[in-house]
Amino acid sequence: MEVALNHLLDELGPFALKDVFYMNVEEKYMKEAIKQAKKAAEIGEVPIGCVIVYDGKIIARGYNRRRTDKNTLSHAELIAIKKASKKLGDWRLEDCDMYVTLEPCQMCAGAIVQSRIKRVYMGCMNPKAGCCGSILDLFHVDKFNHQVESHSGIFEEECSKMLKDFFKTLRGK
Ligand code: ZN
Repeated sequence: MEVALNHLLDELGPFALKDVFYMNVEEKYMKEAIKQAKKAAEIGEVPIGCVIVYDGKIIARGYNRRRTDKNTLSHAELIAIKKASKKLGDWRLEDCDMYVTLEPCQMCAGAIVQSRIKRVYMGCMNPKAGCCGSILDLFHVDKFNHQVESHSGIFEEECSKMLKDFFKTLRGK
């Protein structure tokens, strides 16, 4: 058993092992964002969910409530940013990471840059409205005083299927 494990570690090498570890962490938090998105779907909202992680813990959660609140500011990301700032007692979220099921829009990407969130992990991209790589990439504008590290494609299929299923059901009604 030990021989087999040592052999496996040799095969992977320390960097590969590190990558495997981080990949699991990303997936763990994206699963939590997906849970939030499902809450949105349950109340008839477009399923988009997000969590904010600080120091290895989820400190804020949010899901899309635009229709319920009758408010364009009720995007999952803005709700979570508000909660995270309240929790940390600071508008700066410098050491926080966000996990969001769909690529953020221009408003949310702007708020993410303003709040100085360090990294954003996205499920699927949004070619029609996304501003973190699709239409614009507000995370990587050199002239802004903050850039956001971004990663996409974490549980991409599950995130996009959730949206497709939602719209399919909507059209069926
Ligand atoms: Zn948004």
